[in-house]
Amino acid sequence: DSFHDVDMGEIIMGNITLSRYSRPTPVQKHAIPIIKSKRDLMACAQTGSGKTAAFLLPVLSQIYTDGPGEALQAVKGGSQENGKYGRRKQYPLSLVLAPTRELALQIYDEARKFAYRSRVRPCVVYGGADIGQQIRDLERGCHLLVATPGRLVDMMERGKIGLDYCRYKKPSFECASGWSVRFVDSSIYLVLDEADRMLDMGFEPQIRRIVEQDTMPPKGHRQTMMFSATFPKEIQILARDFLDEYIFLAV
Ligand code: AMP
Repeated sequence: DSFHDVDMGEIIMGNITLSRYSRPTPVQKHAIPIIKSKRDLMACAQTGSGKTAAFLLPVLSQIYTDGPGEALQAVKGGSQENGKYGRRKQYPLSLVLAPTRELALQIYDEARKFAYRSRVRPCVVYGGADIGQQIRDLERGCHLLVATPGRLVDMMERGKIGLDYCRYKKPSFECASGWSVRFVDSSIYLVLDEADRMLDMGFEPQIRRIVEQDTMPPKGHRQTMMFSATFPKEIQILARDFLDEYIFLAV
């Protein structure tokens, strides 16, 4: 009944302490070990249950530990496409889809809090705001992207965002030694937050466009987590289509 039951690394653990979360909520207690064990997850949880930290903590800790760890291959030089600071396309390691600007910003704020002092950089994009500025922010590098579906499709169409970084293109980024580092297979994380609300708002075509584009690693080659307050037929179908041998959690 403690955040220390699962090792999420020193930095994340320190940030949990800084955030004054003393114990995990039920959804955190159950979802964190499932996500850390690399299983797909369908979680029924309400707003206010602590679901945001339930997916952010294990995903951020995984991105962070994958960084200096074995999931990375060092290659001399770096790819043509990714100059030192001049990366054209950005490849988030993890993508969180959320129905509204408010929720996206809330998730982003929490991600910044938990990524504090790590090299993991969260970004957020949503509709109704200057797309140019959001693109410039992405161009500074992004490991965890929080997005509303409409804006993300818009950016994909402008060729500004790639989701295919790990299986097909293996882009690199520079690390301190001047070597660049590239990601190997299966380190992409996809989260659909408040999936029922996204469907209610009519985002299913955009979600399918994003998840089923041929550059997104297919299920089984990514780790997918869906959160929803309810579990009606439409969500069951989405879970069947997007999740691979998933664990069902209701709190
Ligand atoms: P959420 O359901 O993710 O929107 O979280 C609801 C609120 O609970 C947010 O303000 C969180 O910052 C807070 N919260 C989440 N987890 C914990 C925790 N383990 N201890 C205390 N507060 C928390």
